[in-house]
Amino acid sequence: MILSYILRHKRLKKTIIFAGILSWLVLILNFLFPIKVQKSYSTLIYSQEKELVGAFLSSDDKWRMELQPQEITPELKKAILFKEDKWFYWHFGFNPVSVVRALVKNIIHSRRTSGASTITMQTVRLLYPHKRTYWNKFREVLRAVQLEMNYSKNEILLMYLNYVPYGGNIEGIKAASHIYFQKPPDKLSLNQIVMLSIIPNRPNSLRIDKNFTELHKNKTYWIEKYKKSKVFKAHLLEEALQEPTEYKRYEIPALSPQFNHFIKRKYEEQEIIQTTLIAPVQKTVMSLLKKHVQQYKHTGIANGAVLVVDNKTRQVIAYCASADPNDKQAQGLVNGIKAVRSPGSTLKPLIYGLAIQEGYITPQTRLLDVPTDFGGYSPQNFDNTFQGEVSARYALVNSLNVPTVRLAQQMGLEKVIDLFVQAHIKDAQKRKKQLGLSATLGGVGTSLEELTAIYCAFANQGVWQPLRYTRHEDTLHINKTALLTPQANYILTEMLSKLSRPDMPTQFSNLAQMPKIAWKTGTSYGKKDAWAIGYNPRYTVGVWLGDFSGKGIPDLLAAQVATPLLFDVFYAILPKNQTHIWFKAPKNVEVRYVCSETGLLPSPHCAKEKEVIDEYIPYISPNAICDRNQVLYVSENEKQEYCRHCLPKTGYIEKPYPVLPSELALFYKENKINYIVPPSHNPNCDRLISQSGPQIISPLSNYEYIMDKNSPVEVVLQAASESRVRVHFWYINGVFYRKSTAGEKVFFKPRNALTKITCTDELGRSSHTKLKVKW
Ligand SMILES: [Zn+2]
Ligand SMILES: [Zn+2]
Repeated sequence: MILSYILRHKRLKKTIIFAGILSWLVLILNFLFPIKVQKSYSTLIYSQEKELVGAFLSSDDKWRMELQPQEITPELKKAILFKEDKWFYWHFGFNPVSVVRALVKNIIHSRRTSGASTITMQTVRLLYPHKRTYWNKFREVLRAVQLEMNYSKNEILLMYLNYVPYGGNIEGIKAASHIYFQKPPDKLSLNQIVMLSIIPNRPNSLRIDKNFTELHKNKTYWIEKYKKSKVFKAHLLEEALQEPTEYKRYEIPALSPQFNHFIKRKYEEQEIIQTTLIAPVQKTVMSLLKKHVQQYKHTGIANGAVLVVDNKTRQVIAYCASADPNDKQAQGLVNGIKAVRSPGSTLKPLIYGLAIQEGYITPQTRLLDVPTDFGGYSPQNFDNTFQGEVSARYALVNSLNVPTVRLAQQMGLEKVIDLFVQAHIKDAQKRKKQLGLSATLGGVGTSLEELTAIYCAFANQGVWQPLRYTRHEDTLHINKTALLTPQANYILTEMLSKLSRPDMPTQFSNLAQMPKIAWKTGTSYGKKDAWAIGYNPRYTVGVWLGDFSGKGIPDLLAAQVATPLLFDVFYAILPKNQTHIWFKAPKNVEVRYVCSETGLLPSPHCAKEKEVIDEYIPYISPNAICDRNQVLYVSENEKQEYCRHCLPKTGYIEKPYPVLPSELALFYKENKINYIVPPSHNPNCDRLISQSGPQIISPLSNYEYIMDKNSPVEVVLQAASESRVRVHFWYINGVFYRKSTAGEKVFFKPRNALTKITCTDELGRSSHTKLKVKW
């Protein structure tokens, strides 16, 4: 019907054809000269509560922050539209009425005004800056129409607000809002909105920080105009007029510059990065760190770092990578959280946890702390003393080195290194094959980030997972690594949370105030680093203090400097009703009484008052009975011991005596520590080969071994004993070397011309010889 009507009317047909051609032409032009609206934006870094905590210049070195549609408040929109373009939602790019009016004005007054520009045209001008000529004005109109064809009104308004200039390298209302008022655009007051709507008119001469009298004059003028037109309620405008304004430019926020750099590099593609930091926590922890470093400055501590993790989500909520990023002298921009350093004793919990899990120890198990030679490696304790025999818990919280290395050797170093690798310690992964026993005492490099992630695993039943830095990153279900069983992990946590220890914090006047946490301190070799890492069910906090230059600090002791900061952080960030929340024991962790002399189950000969309570894992923890006190047959005067073979018919008594491990007996003897020595065996007993203990067969005392200093060969150590002796203990120059069965060969590589060799049996009897080498 319609078609036949059109065909019958020639003029209409012509018009339609013309319109068709025109629209094709427009489409082709649009295709041939596409409008370019892409501009790069600043990278914005937000905290969890959506506070801007960092920003980077755009790729063209501008502060141009991308405004989100929801950040445009009705007030902002009203103010801008009223001032710039009242008919914005009605025109199609340009306003014919005002174009004609401007043209007439220009001809009459023979000067150019810009009054005719719509927001669309202004946007075009921001995208294609040109000189103001009639020709360019015409092109601007065409481009404005094109922009309207391709984008919605709201998209165009957003573009305008994003590109509008604010002086210097500040572009867009969002950057201006942050830089001039330190707040996001949706939090602006009316007074601030009015100012931000005025500045773009003459961005360089109306800059807030440069020419505030001029700006103030303009503001008053516009507020009067708004009043007259009733755009805003009169009392709101009056308030805006009265509101005090700080006429200055603020720094772009940088809550943690190191964090911002690390996160920007990690998420290079993203313009807006929603991180897991909680700004108030970050600020609190930062000020505590700064205060502490200042307080200890006289000791030589120049810097520090603190990392705080929310255990449930593994989100990093505070990232303080140095005490003061602005302190150039102290290399304030170094990232103390990523720096790889010696962890001191902070990896020991992994070793003790493993030993609990593998059934070697419980907290009360007695471990030897005596000079020990591990094939040329003889570690010292930090105070160069040895304590003889201590409980595992004591050894752990007092950071004793020898018991730790002995445990590692007993379990097999490989197993310990494997655990380090599983705990995602990069240095352990890299140097797995080269690591020796010293790795257990800080000889493997770790960062505060790695250590805190490991302790966060302790707070999560022993399960390791990567720490999270952004809210969209979902690593909670992948990458799980169980470092310890929940049982071993729980017992370890209990060991680390008991209070009688040398690194107790002193800043709390009463214990009720002190938050309950499990923690471990560490001081690295050469006193370069002081660590304290702790956790409770809610948070894990890692603290490092030291000097970025890596120099040693004579007075550095983690217990004294790092622990107070650790506790202060917990005290500050924990809600006051949560300072004592604690972990629930998992199934299969039970308690029992053990004899404190060995940590084993009490025998009838153990003193009742020496029984202590201990945690253990049924069917895994040691379940042997204490053998410290053994009943011996002795003469009535207690001068002689009998065995079953030489036991007389009468004239003897049965009496329990403490029988010490021979290494411990030797240590006591050498350090002149009194202990009860059982009477020596009946000299007339025919079962005894000799009273003097093992007979050393090799090396020969009257022989001189000839060797090449560069490649010494191994010498056999061997001794013979009477049949009831089962074990030999070998000592090199008085330091324990190796344990063997009686008569077994042991090998030793001499390093000196003269070496004192001692062999002891389990009855504490020993003999010596000298190994002579000619080089
Ligand atoms: Zn006992
Ligand atoms: Zn005998």
